[in-house]
Amino acid sequence: MRIAIAGLLHESHSFAPFPADLAAFEKPGGFPPLTRGAAMLEAIAGTRVPAAGARELAESEGHTVVPLAWGIAMPSAPVTRDAFETIAGWIVEDAAAAMPLDGLYLDLHGAMMVEGAPDGEGELLARLRARLGPALPIAASLDLHANVTRAMVAHADVLTAYRTYPHVDMKETGARAMRLLLDRIAHGRPWARRHRPIDFLVPLSAQCTLAHPMRDLYEAIPLVAEQAGAADLSLCLGFPYCDFEGCGPAVTAYAATETAAEAAAARLHDMVVARRAEMVQRLWTPEAAVQHAKARASLGGPPIVLADTQDNPGGGGHGDTTGLLRALVEGGAAGAVVGVLNDAATAAAAHAAGEGAAIEVALGGRSDGAPFHARFAVQRLGDGRFTCTGPMTRGNRADLGPCALLETGGVHVLVASRKMQAYDQAMFRHLGIDPVAVPIIALKSSVHFRADFQPIAREILIVAAPGPVVADPSALPFRNLRPGLALSP
Ligand SMILES: [Zn+2]
Repeated sequence: MRIAIAGLLHESHSFAPFPADLAAFEKPGGFPPLTRGAAMLEAIAGTRVPAAGARELAESEGHTVVPLAWGIAMPSAPVTRDAFETIAGWIVEDAAAAMPLDGLYLDLHGAMMVEGAPDGEGELLARLRARLGPALPIAASLDLHANVTRAMVAHADVLTAYRTYPHVDMKETGARAMRLLLDRIAHGRPWARRHRPIDFLVPLSAQCTLAHPMRDLYEAIPLVAEQAGAADLSLCLGFPYCDFEGCGPAVTAYAATETAAEAAAARLHDMVVARRAEMVQRLWTPEAAVQHAKARASLGGPPIVLADTQDNPGGGGHGDTTGLLRALVEGGAAGAVVGVLNDAATAAAAHAAGEGAAIEVALGGRSDGAPFHARFAVQRLGDGRFTCTGPMTRGNRADLGPCALLETGGVHVLVASRKMQAYDQAMFRHLGIDPVAVPIIALKSSVHFRADFQPIAREILIVAAPGPVVADPSALPFRNLRPGLALSP
């Protein structure tokens, strides 16, 4: 069979400082760059992105893969209309030109907003459906943070989502979506489907599947699906920073009969609601976290990890706020390492000065107007190119542009020219830092850092320093959520 593959991924934060333009898709931090046609297969080869898993499964069963286009931008404010029209245009036009196709697989996030089109994936799927006709089987894989909408469910034959956060099953989810697409084609007609929204937002750090209650809930999904006879059952926990009516968690189920789809969706929905009181998070102020970490680190042993959750570039932060850095320097946390601070101008200044020089700069703070003024020693320079080694994105080739390791007051800061969530030890090692050997390490991440850093951490503290990825979404000035949606569990 001829199976087309495409991807368009973005996680949009309505209240983040900067949008995702075409340039953001062309140079997306630690992920493959925007590509069209056959170049896409080369770009995703050897990576853990969902499309790579989907492609391998299709080819292993002897099908012909037709590459359309694939692009991701790091989370930020919504996608510009120009970027969306360009990439969606390639996908729709190239799919139409490739007809007749037997099926279409899409690698989507599920929380993409576009300027003027808050349900980005719903818009893309509607355009594809209109252009390719009602009969073409379409399957999509989704991020666990997807806000699944009625339009997405209406226009795709099947949607299936990651079951881990940190997302260590991206590639497996892509393969499962392709398996479902092939099964759907063999089924000969669309499955019955159920979409059950859940009526409360869940904060990001309470979505982590390494902890309860999410661990229990995700472990139960295959069993619930099997007992109900569902072809697929997914739980998306939503991205609670999208100000539109589709924001929030939801369950989706697909089955041969309406009864089976309803049984699977209702059971999982009720299981999630029953555990809502457990969906809590403990937060530290930067000052209290630094004092606690210093006391613990003075005993020696593995690093204390501080998660700078509210400036998480993976949640729409710009990766450049300096509140936690300031607390570390002012708290005298000598030996601590901060990563990764997104500031191209400072990286350029460090490269101009050279290793061993000192520079006086206003570091970071472009997104919130609060840079950190200090004199920094330039300890080491790098080109920002490395291959990820951690469980989430092993094999991804990162390109963060010119990078520098700076030091002030005994605190080391890794500065990059592009933002990337701190979920992989390789970003530190490329500048000569061994994360295992430092006493305190501050990471711009909410949960994903746990995949590669929890195994080496003695203790993890979630810190609420300045940034737009507020730990408690109920503090945001929402205007467009659906009536009846609670802002916290
Ligand atoms: Zn995600």
